[in-house]
Amino acid sequence: MKKSYDLIVIGSGVGGSSVATACNQKGWSVAIIDDRPFGGTCALRGCDPKKVLHGIVNIYDEYQRIQGKGLTGDLQINWNELMQFKKKFTEPVPENREDSWNEVGIDTYRGKAIFLDENQIQIGEYQLRGTKIVLATGSMPTPLPIYGIEHLSYSDDFLELENLPKTIVFVGGGYISFEFAHMAARAGATVHILHRGDRPLKKFDPDLVDTLLEKSKEIGIQVHLNHAVKGIKKDGENFIVEAEYENKTISFVADKVVHGAGRIPMIDMDLEKGNVQYSKKGIKVNDHLQSPSNPRVYAVGDVLDTEGFPLTPVAGFESGIVVANLQEERSRVIHYPVTPSVVFTVPKLAMIGMSEKEAQNSAKNIEVNHQKLSTWFTYRRTNEKYAEVKVIRDKDTDQILGAHVLGEGADDLINHFTTAIQLGITTEELKQVVYAYPTAASNIEFML
Ligand SMILES: Cc1cc2nc3c(=O)[nH]c(=O)nc-3n(C[C@H](O)[C@H](O)[C@H](O)COP(=O)(O)OP(=O)(O)OC[C@H]3O[C@@H](n4cnc5c(N)ncnc54)[C@H](O)[C@@H]3O)c2cc1C
Repeated sequence: MKKSYDLIVIGSGVGGSSVATACNQKGWSVAIIDDRPFGGTCALRGCDPKKVLHGIVNIYDEYQRIQGKGLTGDLQINWNELMQFKKKFTEPVPENREDSWNEVGIDTYRGKAIFLDENQIQIGEYQLRGTKIVLATGSMPTPLPIYGIEHLSYSDDFLELENLPKTIVFVGGGYISFEFAHMAARAGATVHILHRGDRPLKKFDPDLVDTLLEKSKEIGIQVHLNHAVKGIKKDGENFIVEAEYENKTISFVADKVVHGAGRIPMIDMDLEKGNVQYSKKGIKVNDHLQSPSNPRVYAVGDVLDTEGFPLTPVAGFESGIVVANLQEERSRVIHYPVTPSVVFTVPKLAMIGMSEKEAQNSAKNIEVNHQKLSTWFTYRRTNEKYAEVKVIRDKDTDQILGAHVLGEGADDLINHFTTAIQLGITTEELKQVVYAYPTAASNIEFML
């Protein structure tokens, strides 16, 4: 069956759905396609369900820290109940999204979309012709060159676990492994993270990562560095994960082996037929987020080969640029704002801007202010032993080049530093801001 649209959007996550909705509001005929339930990774299999679990685990950790200081009694995480709570947030999403799109006249298609030619998409029995096509297909776990790959579970599976396995091995030391490990360990699982390099969470400040590793160890997570996973074997009900360490093979027995080794763009949609250039880093685009080889095609989100981080707010930001360019050809150029990243462990680890090493290599005249915070009132009050901040300042301009925070309030603090960097606020100016007290932000002037 053949149909034509002003716009076809492939992928219904943050990137795709914002573009579809905005163009529908301008009166365009729009189709949106997804091969999984509508809503995308963040709402269904990423940030949001993860944050629901994290919230409970955070309360648990805080309780452990302040037990005997006004609160008594045992507290336990009931994994199954936690998962039922999480489902309240995820389960309604696909139907709600589809209904709300259909109500305003956006046509929805479920299934894998592939290009037939430069302006036609095949989706099941349908051939859809699009005046414009937006690719918002997101990312997928990096395929690993190991044996027994069929025994590997993924982040999607972890977020669906009705019962917590006794022993979990995470392959790779990225943010997904650490976030999930912090949940699983506190809920009672034995947890190993196998990382092939000598530094996990590479994007984050090494000093603060070391402190997070101390806390991870304290809650029972076993992080094995320089362990390159070679393969996974099945042994009855268990899995045996084999890793190479110092030329020896080390085996780990696990009930579940979870991939935490990064993600790559999802580009499997016959892009050649659509004359859409790509590399293994994603869809190639110009400054307007438009395909140079097929100008009717634009892309947003994790699937892009640009400097933008594969994060939800970045996909949202990019979709604004794409909408503007769809409505008025080449009207907006992308300039990526400085973007914060947070690891939702307990405590959280956050960063914005330059690392200390980048700042040192930049030939700028820098000052590094690195402080442990556990004796500060905000952290002493909740018995937070592992809290730390590092702020890197350009001494010539007095502007903040980078900030790195570990602690319960790190996610909100990093947003304050993000505002300062994005708007070019100097540390002297920031010190003039009066924040409510006693809050984590009221400490900022002492962090500068
Ligand atoms: C476990 C996890 C935790 C995360 N936590 C955070 C966080 O805390 N903060 C943050 O900012 N980001 C986080 N992210 C990243 C964030 O989820 C992504 O950056 C964001 O969802 C990307 O949105 P998108 O619109 O590009 O793609 P997606 O939301 O991934 O949507 C793409 C959709 O396209 C579909 N699709 C792909 N190919 C086709 C095809 N050929 N035909 C039809 N449909 C197709 C996919 O099935 C998918 O549903 C997390 C990701 C994961 C996996």
